Amino acid sequence: MGPVDSGQVAHHFYDPIGHFIDGRFVEPRSGLTGDVFNPATGEVARRVGLATVAEVDAAVAAAAAAQPAWADMPPVRRARILNNFLALLNQHKDILAAMITSEHGKVFTDAQGEVTRGIEIVEFACGAPQLLKGAFTDQVSTGIDNWTIRQPLGVVAGITPFNFPCMVPCWMFPVALACGNTFVLKPSERDPSPAILMAELLTQAGLPPGVFNVVQGDKTAVDRLIEHPDVRALSFVGSTPIAQYIYERGAHFGKRVQALGGAKNHMVVMPDADVDQVVDALIGAAYGSAGERCMAISVAVFVGEAADRVLPKLTERTRQLKIKNGMELDAEMGPIVTGAALDRICGYIEHGVQSGAKLLVDGRGHEVPGCEGGFWLGGTLFDHVTPDMKIYREEIFGPVLSCMRVKDFAAALELVNSHPYGNGVACFTSDGNVAREFARRIQVGMVGINVPIPVPMAWHGFGGWKSSLFGDMHAYGEEGVRFYTRQKSIMQRWPASIAKGAEFVMPTAK
Ligand code: NAD
Repeated sequence: MGPVDSGQVAHHFYDPIGHFIDGRFVEPRSGLTGDVFNPATGEVARRVGLATVAEVDAAVAAAAAAQPAWADMPPVRRARILNNFLALLNQHKDILAAMITSEHGKVFTDAQGEVTRGIEIVEFACGAPQLLKGAFTDQVSTGIDNWTIRQPLGVVAGITPFNFPCMVPCWMFPVALACGNTFVLKPSERDPSPAILMAELLTQAGLPPGVFNVVQGDKTAVDRLIEHPDVRALSFVGSTPIAQYIYERGAHFGKRVQALGGAKNHMVVMPDADVDQVVDALIGAAYGSAGERCMAISVAVFVGEAADRVLPKLTERTRQLKIKNGMELDAEMGPIVTGAALDRICGYIEHGVQSGAKLLVDGRGHEVPGCEGGFWLGGTLFDHVTPDMKIYREEIFGPVLSCMRVKDFAAALELVNSHPYGNGVACFTSDGNVAREFARRIQVGMVGINVPIPVPMAWHGFGGWKSSLFGDMHAYGEEGVRFYTRQKSIMQRWPASIAKGAEFVMPTAK
């Protein structure tokens, strides 16, 4: 018996997985489908419909029809519906987590953490009345007041990656809805089921039909969302080439775009850092979720003699990782999401060996009794990786940790700042001045001081720098509210305070 009743979870899956349009589940019509695997067994668990242009258009039309009334609803009433949704999410947390584990592969406890992180954004969005308060200046000039309000954009769309099928959509739609927009979500075709359950829970919470829609699909669906004249803004999270494509195409069609891309996150280890704390941090941050996190640590940068102190224990712990079906509660790491992803990661490992990096732990060929067909890979550890190597330059997105050695703090800063990605970074040290200098000088959007995965909390906003984010605004938090609204300034006076006569000079405060 797993951590949740498997019958209860099975009840929430559809096959084929369809769309959610205008308040109800819609069977896919095109006949085009993709396979959704159970990565722990390697079996095709179900199929997902891939939307045609007509299916995307139906979702956008439903969202456009619902938008004026939703925008007109007082924010406090929108927030009450989100509050109902919050309660339902909490009730269904374990079911959502089990769905994530069965399609993504990450361990159940980690999936629970993912759902909790999503729930926190809903909690933030429930503060809509406060978040949408405008600014008012009384008597901006004699007899005139000026105020600013923020209004919704209209229909907005979200395109999300496989690695957080619940949390990343929650970075987007709760804030967008709270602001009075209606939403079309295009989840990853690798793990599409949690999006449908969330749509059903929103409907149960009292969300009017058409306010939140889901279209399953691939590039065809995404391209239609980019081009559709009624979609005003695009939020994207995924790999850098696609992020850049969506940013450029979206801008071409006059849309507001935030496109979060890939990562290569470093952890700088100073010689004064506590060895056990460093080993714990690296094991969790490099191999948690099989390294398939955009904030995973994939490079350890050891300063001075730190490498010799840390590597023996790190090597040992990497070999001891408990890798098994994620529904087993003592599992520390589950399988890779698909066979194709496993092959890609193994290709990088081979490349690392060929280019001269020292393979301390080789995860290839890992087997899990009873799950022989699963997409398994053990934790993999390289030492003596150099900046010119492909395994350093490119995002591997798997349980592969590259260790590098630099002579001092300045060299560590230089190394991290020269990398094209700038999503997350960490520094482990017990020196306050080093910590302060690191946080100020590093060219990365999210920084952890003795915190390996510094994913900001719901009210702070998430976003990287450089090739990890295209656009101006981060996801969720106040930046999210700004992204999903536009500012309007209103200036008002009443006839009794209007002076007679036409004014030909630029008005100034009188
Ligand atoms: P991906 O870029 O392959 O897919 C993301 C989304 O784009 C999916 O919905 C997919 O259907 C769609 N898509 C894929 N190819 C497309 C194309 N040619 N045209 C239009 N749409 C396309 O990413 P993934 O493999 O699902 O997720 C892993 C990637 O996401 C990693 O690079 C990871 O770093 C990144 N990621 C980044 C963040 C962040 O916040 N910066 C968070 C999570 C994941």
